[in-house]
Amino acid sequence: MSADFLKTPIDYLKGVGSERAKTLQSELSIFRYEDLLNYFPFRYVDRSKYYKIKEITPTLAEIQVVGKMISLREIGQNRGKRLTARFVDETGEIELVWFRFTKWLKETMETYIGKQILIYGKPNEFNGKINMVHPEIETMENHKSSPQGLFPVYSSTEKLQKKGISNRVMQKLQFQLLSEIQYLEENLSEELIEKLKFPNRLQAYRQIHFPKNTYELKQAENRLKFEEFFFLQLGLLLKKLNHQQKFKSYEFESIGNYFNEFYANYLPFELTNAQKRVIKEIRADLAKPVQMNRLLQGDVGSGKTMVALLSALIAIDNGYQVAFMAPTEILATQHYQALTTYLSKMDIEIGLLTGSTKAKERRELAEKLVTGEMKILVGTHALIEDNVVFNNLGLTIIDEQHKFGVAQRAKFLKKNKFPPHVLVMTATPIPRTLAMSLYGDLDISVIDELPPGRKPIKTVHRKDKDRLALFKFLKDEIQKGRQIYIVYPLIEESEKLDYKDLMDGFESISRAFPLPNYAVSIVHGKMKPADKDFEMQRFAKGETEILVATTVIEVGVNVPNASVMVIESAEKFGLSQLHQLRGRVGRGADQSYCILMTKDFLTDDAYQRISTMCRTNDGFEVAEVDMQIRGPGDLMGTQQSGILNFKLANLAKDQKMLHTARFIAEEILKLDPELNAPENQFIKKHFVQNHKEKFIWSRIG
Ligand code: ADP
Ligand code: MG
Repeated sequence: MSADFLKTPIDYLKGVGSERAKTLQSELSIFRYEDLLNYFPFRYVDRSKYYKIKEITPTLAEIQVVGKMISLREIGQNRGKRLTARFVDETGEIELVWFRFTKWLKETMETYIGKQILIYGKPNEFNGKINMVHPEIETMENHKSSPQGLFPVYSSTEKLQKKGISNRVMQKLQFQLLSEIQYLEENLSEELIEKLKFPNRLQAYRQIHFPKNTYELKQAENRLKFEEFFFLQLGLLLKKLNHQQKFKSYEFESIGNYFNEFYANYLPFELTNAQKRVIKEIRADLAKPVQMNRLLQGDVGSGKTMVALLSALIAIDNGYQVAFMAPTEILATQHYQALTTYLSKMDIEIGLLTGSTKAKERRELAEKLVTGEMKILVGTHALIEDNVVFNNLGLTIIDEQHKFGVAQRAKFLKKNKFPPHVLVMTATPIPRTLAMSLYGDLDISVIDELPPGRKPIKTVHRKDKDRLALFKFLKDEIQKGRQIYIVYPLIEESEKLDYKDLMDGFESISRAFPLPNYAVSIVHGKMKPADKDFEMQRFAKGETEILVATTVIEVGVNVPNASVMVIESAEKFGLSQLHQLRGRVGRGADQSYCILMTKDFLTDDAYQRISTMCRTNDGFEVAEVDMQIRGPGDLMGTQQSGILNFKLANLAKDQKMLHTARFIAEEILKLDPELNAPENQFIKKHFVQNHKEKFIWSRIG
C-alpha cells in the first residue's frame, strides 16, 4: 500500500460519508486518511477491568460492570419522559437512564431483562444515587468475542457529539481504516528499527489505537515519539549544515597582539573553567570560513561580558570590526562602560550608539565606522538602522536578555555584504531539551559556573506569622549598611487588588521603618517615568534604604549594595520570575538573602516552586523544574510553541528519547549528509514529503 492511499480524502472511508467528513474536517482538521491515522487517543480505558457496583463512585471515568437488568419502565411526561432500568449485581444496584429513546431501543432493552449483560459508561450521581446515562450494552457472548485490551478514548468536541461522532464511532472509523491498510511504507531504516527494538510502522499505528496491553502501548508510543523527535532534529541539523554551506564568513586565522596583550596584562581575574571552555568553542568557530551562529547561555553574573570581550579581541586581531547590541539603553551604556574600563590601557576605539546619541556625535561615529578606525560599536537597535555602515564588520554580539527576537537578528545580518559571525548571549537559562528543539540549528555554549568567591544567595521561605522577625532582620541588615528590595506581585487580572496590596504594604513598611531613621522609596507602573526614575536613582544612590516595588524593577538595575530581596505573595510568581528577581541581589561582596513570603497554605505547584527556589541558585535547575511544572509551551510563550507541538512526545518527560533521537540524527548525517545511502531512502523520502522547508541537497556535505 503506497503513501498515496493515505492521501485518500476522508469521505471515502466506509462509515464516513460527506456529512461526517465535513464535521471531521472542521472540528479536527481530518481531511485525509493519514490525518485520521495520526489522530491519536488521549487516553485508554482498561477493558480487562470489571467494576463491582459497590466500588462505583461518580468520579470514575468510563467503566464496565457485569450484572442483570431486573426491570424497565417509562417515567415522566412529554419532554421529561425517559426510560429507566434497575441494574444489579451481587453487591448492589444502580439505575440506568435513557432520555429520548425510540420504540426500537425499548424493545431491545426488554430482550436483555434477566440476562447476564455487560454495561459500559460513565457513572454519575443523581439525587444521592449512582446512575449511568445511555450505557453501551453487550451480551456476555458478544463481549467475549469482541477485542479485548485497552480501549482508545479520543478527545471530542460538543459539535462532534452532536453530529453523532461519538467515541464509539471514532473507534470504529479507526478500526475500519487500520483494517484496510495492509502495509505502511517505513520511514526509518531497518537497522534503526532493529537496534531500537521498535515495532514496524503499521504495527505501531495498530498498537497506538488498539493496544492489547500496556506493553504494546508503550512500544507504539516509543516509536512514534521517536519519530517526532527524530525528524525535528534531522530538520534542524540539516538546516545547520545547509547554513554552514550557504553562509561563508571570515576566517579569523590567528589570535594576535590585542588578545594576547590583554590576556597577559589586563585580564582582571582568572577565567572560570566554564569561561575558558566557551572561549575555546568560540575560537574554533571563528577560525572556520563559515559563519558562526552560536548561542551563549549563562545565568546572570556568570561572566558573559568577558567572553564577549575576548571574542571581540579575536575579531579585531584579524582586522575586523565588532558590533555589540543590547536590548535597552541602560544595558548598552553599561556594556560600553565595562568594555571601556577593561580596555582603558589599550589602543582600541570603542563607540556607543543609542537612540539618544546626538546628531553631531552620530556623524563622527559614522565616519570612524566607515574608515574602520572604530573597532567596537556598542548600542541598541540604533545599530541596525540603514545609515550605520561598517567598514568590515566581522563579529556581531547580541546580548539578548530576553527581549530580542530572531527576526531582528536576521535583519541585522542582511545589511552586511558578507554575514559576520554571530554570538547571541542570553541570561535566561532554558532546559537543554528545550534549547535542543528550539535552537537545534545553532551551536550552543553554556557557562554553568559562577566566578569564585561569590557567596551564594541564601533563600528562605517565611509566612505571615514570621513578619515581626522579618522586620527585625531587615533592621539589622540596614544597620550593617545594606539596602533592601520588597517586591509585590502585579497580575493583570487582579490589578486593582494588587495595587491595594502594594499600597497597604508600603504603608505598613513606612510605619515599621519610620523617618527620620529610615527612608523608603516606592516604584510602580502607574507612576510617571520621570518620578519612577527619580525614586530609582534615590535608591541607587543609597539615599533610601528600602525600595518597595512591583515587578517593574527594570532588567539591568544594578545596585550592588542591595543585598536583601523580599518577595511578597511569592506563591503568585512563576519560577523564572522568582529567579530573575533573586538575581537583583548577590551582586556585591556581602552575604545576600532572598526571602519568599507566602500565605500559610500552598498548592502543590506553589510549594514546588518555593522549595525549588530554596534548594538551588542554579538557573538551569530552576528552568528544568519550571518546564516540568508548566510544560515547554508555556515556558517559552506562544510565539515559539508551534515547533513544540508534538502529538505524543513531551520535552519534560521524554528527555532520554530526545537525546537518543538527536544523537542518531547526528550519526546518520555524519556518514551520509545528503541521505543518499540506500538504507536512508525511507528516511529521506518521509522527510522531504513532510517538510515545508526546502533543502539544497546537492550543497550539503
Ligand atoms: P553576565 O553574565 O550577567 O553578563 P558579567 O559579565 O556582568 O555577567 O559579570 C558579572 C561580574 O562578575 C562582573 O562584575 C565581572 O567583572 C565578574 N566576573 C566575571 N568573570 C569573572 C571571573 N572569572 N572571576 C571573577 N569575577 C568575574
Ligand atoms: Mg550581562
